[in-house]
Formats: sequence, C-alpha cells, structure tokens
Amino acid sequence: MARVLVIHTGGTLGMLGTPLEPGTYAQAIADRVPELAAVAELHTEIVCNLDSSDVGPVEWTEVARRIAAGRSAYDGFVVVHGTDTMAYTAGALAFSLRNLDRPVVLTGAQRPLAALRTDARRNLQDAVEIATRDVPEVGICFDGLLLRGCRAVKADARLYRAFDTPGLEPLARFGVDLAVGRHLRRPTGPFSCDPRFESRVAVLHIAPGLDPRWVEAMLDSDVRGVVVAAFGVGTLPSREHRLARVLERARGRGVEILVVTQHGGLVDLGMYQNSKALADLGAVPGGKMRVEAAVPKLMHALAAFPDGAERHAWLVSDVAGEQE
Ligand code: ASP
Repeated sequence: MARVLVIHTGGTLGMLGTPLEPGTYAQAIADRVPELAAVAELHTEIVCNLDSSDVGPVEWTEVARRIAAGRSAYDGFVVVHGTDTMAYTAGALAFSLRNLDRPVVLTGAQRPLAALRTDARRNLQDAVEIATRDVPEVGICFDGLLLRGCRAVKADARLYRAFDTPGLEPLARFGVDLAVGRHLRRPTGPFSCDPRFESRVAVLHIAPGLDPRWVEAMLDSDVRGVVVAAFGVGTLPSREHRLARVLERARGRGVEILVVTQHGGLVDLGMYQNSKALADLGAVPGGKMRVEAAVPKLMHALAAFPDGAERHAWLVSDVAGEQE
C-alpha cells in the first residue's frame, strides 16, 4: 500500500477543538475520515499550527526539508495548510523542490474537519488519493480540483471553490473518474532541494494616485527585492516619471524588481510607453506569474543566485510551470 506523509502547518481544517499533538491529530483524521485507511498508509508530522497569515519563509524551509528527508520513505506528501497563504507556500515548495518525482499536495478547508457541512473531509480524501498517484507536481487540492501550485490564487474567501489558476486548466478533476491532465510536468533531471529564501522582499501594488514618496520610503528601508504588481501587461503611472525615478534609484542600490500583472495574462514591458521605464531600468518581466508565485520566486532567487545575470536568467525561466 502507498505511504503518504501528512505534514500539518495549521489553518481551518485542523481546528479540531483539542490541542494538536501528532497522536491525537492522526487519531482525529482516522476517526473523521476512516476511509483514508483504505487509500494509503498515513503518517503525520506537525510542523506548526498557525493561521496561514503567519506562515512564511521559515515554515516553507521546514516543510521543504521534511519533504526532501521523507522522499525515500513516502510515495507522496499532503501538506495541510490554511487557505489564506496556501498559494504562496505552494510556490515556495515548487521553486525549492526541483525535479520533483512524486506528488506534494497542499490542502485545507473553509470549514473545520469537525464542523457540520465541512469541506475538509472531501479535500483530505482527494488530496491523499492524488498523493498516491504518479503526479509529480506541487499542487493545491480543493473542491474536486488539483491545481498547479505556482499558478494558483485564492479566488474566494467564502466559497468551497476557494482556488483558481487563471488561464490554466486544472491538473486533475475528481469526478466519477479521476481525470489527470496532459499538461502535467515530469522531472527532467535529478531531484534537489534548496529551501533558501531572502525574506526582505516587498510587494508594491500600483494604484491610481500612488504617491512616489511612499514608495521611496518603503524602498529606502532594508529591502532587497520588490514585486511590482502593475496594471495590465505591466504599466504604471508615468506622468513626470516620478515613480520610475524612485524605482531607478532603488535599482541603482541593487534592489531586484520583478513585475507581475494584477489581472492575469502575460506581462509585456515592450507593449506600452507606460512600461518602458520599467524595461529600461532592468526590471524583470514576471511572465504569467501572479504575486503569490512571484514573492517566493524572487525570495528564492535572491537567496540562491548572488550573481545578477544568473538571477535574471532564472527569474525569467519557467522553473515549475509558472509561465505556462
Ligand atoms: N485564516 C485561515 C488560514 O489561512 C483560513 C483558512 O484556513 O481557510 O489559516
């Protein structure tokens, strides 16, 4: 029988009403979802028990390490996680676990496992089942879909269909049959794990009326990288070029700038005059990534590639399907 490691990090699914310890947690899952015993031999580890708004680079590193350490013992991994930042953690795992050869499935729930009308049971069942299959990607399993983790966004805070990968078909759909898509990625080399992240990365959400002085104050602090969530295909307010000059000065100090769109679709810094300043100052176009993937990708790039040219090449490359 397949062996699956369930790594708990927190979130609504695990709010069981009792203090979390590996034994009681495993027992609670076994009691509430007994059918899992027929699907896989489950082991559980608890990394933390946090609302996912408190999960970040430290926990990403620990989860990645446990997955790397468990590769010889387990066929697949299920990471139980709060929904709020699940997509960021999925990105972090996708960029740090390279040439993954088995499933890493993040899941959670909008209602606790112990609650009436919970979606936790189904999500856990689906996640464990897909973790036993030949699906070597980091995915988010939610409401009958498996989604590519590094393309995912949290799309709704109240609906059971909480996640989406805009512009990309689900990797798998759970219906009468379990239909796995043809666009599934496969490893192209030996597995490696490099879970380093530079946490001094800021996000700049461009909005009408944004005062460049606020941006300057933010970038004058100890920031090493900034993800610019721009309009459309990568535009920003450009009258008098005040914002561009602030970004240019930061760039001059070595701050890495990665541009993503707020909307979905492909960033193209050559299409409009109002993107030209970004292109000229050497900002990296983020392709189809959303903020959720761009933040861990930039954090990892800053930690793993000290050389600027290598870092740029890695940032624009399609590492885990984030550009598809
Ligand atoms: N605030 C919770 C979290 O992200 C929400 C959830 O788990 O769905 O941890």
